[in-house]
This record gives sequence, structure tokens and C-alpha cells, in this order.
Amino acid sequence: MSAARKRVAVVGVGTMGSQAAWRLAARGAEVVGYDRYAPGHDRSAAGGETRIFRSAHFEDSRYVPLLKHADALWEQLQEETGRELRRLTGCLLMGPTDHHQMATVLQSIAEHDLDHEVLDAELLAKRFPQYRIEDGDAAVLDRRAGFIRPELTIQTAARRAEQLGAVIRRYSTVREIVPVAGGVEIRTDSGSERFDTAVVTPGPWVNDLLPDLPWEVDVRRLVSAWYVPTTPEAWFGEERPAFIRTAPTHCYGLPSPDGISVKLGLSRALHQPAGDPNQLDRTVRPEELEVFSDLIGRYMPGLHPDPTRLSVYMEGYTESSRPLVGPLPGAENVILLAGFSGHGFKLSPAFGNIAADLALDGTSPQPIDFISTLGRTEA
Ligand SMILES: Cc1cc2nc3c(=O)[nH]c(=O)nc-3n(C[C@H](O)[C@H](O)[C@H](O)COP(=O)(O)OP(=O)(O)OC[C@H]3O[C@@H](n4cnc5c(N)ncnc54)[C@H](O)[C@@H]3O)c2cc1C
Repeated sequence: MSAARKRVAVVGVGTMGSQAAWRLAARGAEVVGYDRYAPGHDRSAAGGETRIFRSAHFEDSRYVPLLKHADALWEQLQEETGRELRRLTGCLLMGPTDHHQMATVLQSIAEHDLDHEVLDAELLAKRFPQYRIEDGDAAVLDRRAGFIRPELTIQTAARRAEQLGAVIRRYSTVREIVPVAGGVEIRTDSGSERFDTAVVTPGPWVNDLLPDLPWEVDVRRLVSAWYVPTTPEAWFGEERPAFIRTAPTHCYGLPSPDGISVKLGLSRALHQPAGDPNQLDRTVRPEELEVFSDLIGRYMPGLHPDPTRLSVYMEGYTESSRPLVGPLPGAENVILLAGFSGHGFKLSPAFGNIAADLALDGTSPQPIDFISTLGRTEA
């Protein structure tokens, strides 16, 4: 069957699903997307105004070619839609020189010749007085980096997919995905539809939808907190990079696009299990804020320590932090993309295109062996 006539379901039109729907529709597939809410909602892994885009990777330098692929597709989606989905304001990566994540950043930069600057303590204090670093810390400015607007991105990719012929069934929860001879059946409360292939991108609902998944995805509850600077000129001057501190407490932050506050977030180890994704506890207790106050006192004393806004999201983590990308064992027509472990947004156009490759051609030219579900024994 030719790619142009393939019927593909996209289950979950969130971060990955909206991009997959765009790429599939652009490549001539007949696409039907399903979401339990509507594209751009903030009840799962996306939401909270901003996500960091960066070119240097501190987790694993094998992501850099995928980031370059994503980078080109970010530009393409902006061009096709006329929307500013991200802004390249840079990202400061800071942390102990001898920590493995800082070493991976420097390895990514050297291996892939990435546009960057290494800042010593004196230069950092002059250019970015809002941050403190400690003895033995390095600071690297990744220049092809900045912030993405998550809600706008998902809506824009989904709308673009619709313009290209995709149909999106909003407020339509998929209850079951059933492989059948030569295809797959998608069951919702209003009936079932048959497709050649399903791209399954349910985010934090992955265990709910696929209870027999052979890999563990640990769904966590992530708190984002916004703080107003007492020194706004330092945070909202000409340069407004995002930042990531790798250690001893991994954290990150972004000056908000409105120029008023700075959003802070923490790493996986500091997040509680989410429990049932349909019953997410969105109450933030005062004790959950202590780690934020400590970080502000130590590294960003120019932020007022009382948050002006708090939000709670969910994300699925694998043991290795590498996502699950590829067919489900024993069901080659069901392509899973899940467990993005806190770093999927920046890569989402690349993963959407990879989903389209796998759904339409059965393989992808992108270097995905290290994250593929094929032959994977650990998460
Ligand atoms: C607070 C926070 C900060 C982050 N910061 C960054 C960052 O700075 N940079 C970065 O690159 N990444 C970041 N990430 C990670 C990134 O946001 C996620 O990896 C990414 O959003 C995951 O996308 P997804 O498509 O798997 O999930 P989602 O975007 O949650 O999409 C899943 C979709 O599936 C739908 N769905 C679920 N079940 C069903 C069903 N049964 N039927 C129909 N629809 C269903 C949901 O409604 C949802 O729309 C962050 C994550 C969080 C939570």
C-alpha cells in the first residue's frame, strides 16, 4: 500500500501526537487524532508557558543529531504557520566541572561543533549577575537554545495537521487499541474505527492505556513555581537566557515571556509519584517549596522567595531516561512514543517525524537505535 493511502490513528494529540499528526498529514496519510481533552490543554505533560530548547545535551550526546533534526522542523513549522513558537534567547548550563552532565555538555559541543561560549566566574558575574556559581563550577552558554511556547506549539501543530486534512476527535478518550489482521482497531465510548497503523502518544496515561507494557514508565508529579525578581533589570535585560544547573541539585528556570517573573523547576528525583493521572493532586504544600527557597538563596538571591504562581504537571520517566520509541512487541502496527523523562518537548517535531517514518515506511533514517523499542530489554 502506498504511503499516501495509509490510514493512521494518532492516540493522544499532545506534545508528540500533534507533531506526529502534522508530519503524517504532510506526508499524505489519512490521519485521525484522538484526545481525551483538546490540543493545547494543560492537564498533562505540556503547559506552564515555556519549555527549554537547547542544542547541547547533558544527558547523552547521541541526542544531538535528533536535536538538529528537531531544530530544522521547528523552523519549518514556524514558517508554514507564521507563528513564533520558540525564541532563541540562549541557555546557560552551570554546574561542577567534574560532574558527568557537565562533561556530556562539553562533549556534545566538541563533537558537534555547537555555537557556545564558556564563561568564567568574572564574566558570568558581569553579564549575568542574577546567577551565583561556586568554586569548581563551569558555565557554558548554549547559543542555539531558548524557550518554546508549549500550548501554542501543540495547538499550532494540530491546526496545521487539520489544514492538511487530518481529523481530530476532541474529548474522545481511547479505551482500547486492538491489533487485528493487517491493522489496528481503536475503541472509544462511541464505537470503534479501523486503521492500518496507530501512533500511540498518551504521555502520562501510558500505563492506563497499555497496562501490559513490558517496560516500566514511572509517572511523576512536577511542580513549576514562578518568582518575581527584586532586580528585574538583571533578569529582563537584553540577554534573557534560560538556565539549567546540573548539580548538586538539578534545577532549571526560564524568564517568563511577559517579562515579569521567572519560572523554576526541579529534576526527577525531587518529584513525587503522580498516582492515577485522572486524579492528579494539584495542591502544592508549603514543604514542597523549601527546595525552591534553598535554591534561590544559594544561586539566585535576586528572586523574591515567595512564589506568585504554582502549577502541577505530569511526566513519564523510564529507568534509563531514554524514551520508548517504536513498535509494541508483537504488534508492529502499533507505534509507541512514551516516557520522555523530562526532556521531550524540544525534540517533539523530530519524534513526530520519526513516528511518521515508522508508521508509513516501517523504519526511520534518523539515528534512533539507542532509544528504539526493538530488542529493548530495559526501560
Ligand atoms: C513541568 C515540566 C517541565 C518540562 N520542561 C521541559 C523542557 O524545558 N524542555 C523539554 O524538552 N522538555 C520538558 N519537559 C518534558 C516534555 O514536556 C514532555 O517530555 C512532553 O511534553 C511529553 O509529551 P507527550 O506527548 O508524551 O505527553 P503529553 O504532551 O502529555 O500528551 C499526551 C496526550 O495524550 C492524551 N491522552 C492520554 N490518554 C489518552 C487516551 N486514552 N485517549 C485519548 N487521548 C489521550 C492527553 O490528553 C495528552 O493530550 C517538561 C515536562 C514537564 C512536566
